[in-house]
Amino acid sequence: MFPSPDLSGFRSRAAIDALVHELSLLVDRPMRFMEVCGTHTMAVARYGLRSLFPPRFELVSGPGCPVCVTAQSHVDAMIRLARIPGVTIATFGDMVRVPGSSGSLAHAMAEGARVEIVYSPTDALHLAREVSPDPVVFLAVGFETTAPAVAATILEAERTGVENLLVHPAHKLMPPALDCIMSGGAAVNGLLCPGHVSAVIGAKAYAPLAEGQGLPCVIGGFEPADILLALTLLARQVREGRSEVENAYPRAVSWEGNKRAREVMEAVFRPEDTEWRGLGVISGSGLTLREGFRDRDARTRFGVHPVPVADPPGCVCGEVLKGVKTPTDCPLFASRCTPQSPVGPCMVSGEGACAAHYLTDGPCHA
Ligand code: SF4
Repeated sequence: MFPSPDLSGFRSRAAIDALVHELSLLVDRPMRFMEVCGTHTMAVARYGLRSLFPPRFELVSGPGCPVCVTAQSHVDAMIRLARIPGVTIATFGDMVRVPGSSGSLAHAMAEGARVEIVYSPTDALHLAREVSPDPVVFLAVGFETTAPAVAATILEAERTGVENLLVHPAHKLMPPALDCIMSGGAAVNGLLCPGHVSAVIGAKAYAPLAEGQGLPCVIGGFEPADILLALTLLARQVREGRSEVENAYPRAVSWEGNKRAREVMEAVFRPEDTEWRGLGVISGSGLTLREGFRDRDARTRFGVHPVPVADPPGCVCGEVLKGVKTPTDCPLFASRCTPQSPVGPCMVSGEGACAAHYLTDGPCHA
């Protein structure tokens, strides 16, 4: 059943057909799984995998899109930072179009704010070292996948004496969020666990969910056969009444994860309580700078702190991120809210559930 380990094997028609057939045999009752990772969300849409699922099989999105889970209060704080004269914001492109309570970073740019789109935290370090003598604030959005790179960049800034590189810490940690969602009674039979995050935190991070909450957890890669293999293993666990952690992405993920990456991350950051869109404040689910790096925290440097605020009227991103609703349940989907004119972040990000569903359920497919 396992495809050959070269990448072409994970896209081969024969492997996909075999896995689809096996899945159809295993799904003998309603089965509902959650894909935790935004990259899985987009891969499922891009490869048209939903059309291959058997009846009574459902795959819902979870809290795995970093832009989508960034609370409105944090988005507003980032926009306020951008409007401070002399400050340059360095950010991944998806954040620029996320609507805040009053405009977006794109609107702030149009009004004269300095916002630079970067592709890595080291680009922000370059801006601070080579381009701007004024504060450069990197918007540190992402999960355990990106936090080690941001931490390494901060250490490099320290080592080379680049004092004008600051960060707005908005990283999120995945295990506390999953625990919160599953403790809240999410009606899913198992988790398709994220490949990228798991490469850092290791498969062992899901053991408490599997053992404590009786939830099958399977880590999957991002090629079509990777995803179908992970879903097949989940369905088999349900059939056999098991709830275990299985790793269907061993070419990238180990049981222990990347110890060195975690050490770098933990040298610079420590956990803090933080707000997630749709989930509220989750204890220990964010990262803030350790004491030795606090002068690089843009929130304290400029006194700009997140202020709780309601999500955009009518937008159900929060429910989508918990797997309670699907994008097509939203009355604004594909009408008032489109990728060209997004109301909520789930329609902005390339990894957002609403943007992914727009690919497959939007007007182009009507
Ligand atoms: S379709 Fe738009 S408004 Fe509705 S949940 Fe998605 S992002 Fe929010």
